[in-house]
Amino acid sequence: AELWQDVPLAPPDSIFQLTAAYKADTFKDKVNLGVGAYRDNDNKPWVLPVVKKATAILLNDESLDHEYLPITGLAEFTTAAAKLILGADSPAIKEGRVVSVQTISGTGANHLGALFLSKFYKWNGPARVYLSNPTWGKPFNYIPSNILGTEGRSANHHAIFRNVGIEPVEYAYYDPKTIGLDFNGFIDALKGAPERSVFLLHACAHNPTGVDPTPEQWKAIAEVIASKKHYTFFDCAYQGFASGDLDKDAWAVRLFVELGLPLLVCQSFAKNAGLYGERVGALHVVSPNTETANRVKSQLSVLQRSEISNPPSHGARLVSLILNDAGLFEEWKRDIQTMAGRIIEMRRELHRLLTEKLQTPGNWDHIVNQIGMFRYARA
Ligand code: PLP
Repeated sequence: AELWQDVPLAPPDSIFQLTAAYKADTFKDKVNLGVGAYRDNDNKPWVLPVVKKATAILLNDESLDHEYLPITGLAEFTTAAAKLILGADSPAIKEGRVVSVQTISGTGANHLGALFLSKFYKWNGPARVYLSNPTWGKPFNYIPSNILGTEGRSANHHAIFRNVGIEPVEYAYYDPKTIGLDFNGFIDALKGAPERSVFLLHACAHNPTGVDPTPEQWKAIAEVIASKKHYTFFDCAYQGFASGDLDKDAWAVRLFVELGLPLLVCQSFAKNAGLYGERVGALHVVSPNTETANRVKSQLSVLQRSEISNPPSHGARLVSLILNDAGLFEEWKRDIQTMAGRIIEMRRELHRLLTEKLQTPGNWDHIVNQIGMFRYARA
């Protein structure tokens, strides 16, 4: 018999399939509402002006070569990236408790974080991760029986954890009645889970609902997490994209660090620097002390070595330039405001057209109440 004849044919990823179909379509007014990538007023991808500037600097830098980066990545990049998400004055950074590893964008950070937990987390029962319902790549209320099944095909958070032997379970998050947060359901899930459970939380601009807890709700969530000794697996793919303000969008992560909750953060520069294809990201593990941080780093290095050996250099150099140069950093913040501002304005305009202009029946307030690139309403 032929060797691979029993390999089932997997369906293509629905989002990237849509992108290919969109590219092939010749209709001039076509619009792609599938993939989460920013488009400008002309419906075109936007190369950030600050990225163009940084690219030119790199091109003219005769000292650069194509040698391997260290296993854990470009140190100037990871150090600055940690400050960006945790805050420049973060006590955890000052105390040398933060381990930062450069990853293949946010997806790679999620994978490395999940892999690390699968090897070293002290599970209280079976290895499980609590994911919001819905979450990245997964339709609301769909419970995939097999990630290769037709519907579970782009259930990325689910697949990432399954791939390393951690079983995803869901916590209540979206409330179809309010088209908002099911806060009580979320709190009940936190309370009902066994102590020391692992909860994946979206740091801001929740994908796919655009529904985030308020600061007061975040505080209540943190309180239950503390009392149940849960571990927080933060996924932060949209810092700056939600509000236009990098610090504001990192608020929840910083609150948890301040409260001394055990956590890690997956960070992506795909959206906020428009570096989708460059795959720039980092995994930050906040540890109780330097000694533990060193152990964690040593094991992350071992895992990274067997997976990718060394992360790619170009995108990390670009982001490192931007983060470490005061002028470029200010310029980047303005570019982020351009993107976030346009998204917020588009939401307002769509709301206005639906309600005032077209008098469309129903309540459309969720379009302006939700945040980031996604608009979500599902019964
Ligand atoms: N996590 C969430 C919630 C996302 O929405 C995304 C991108 O859509 C990612 C992680 C990772 O994206 P990337 O690997 O391109 O950084």
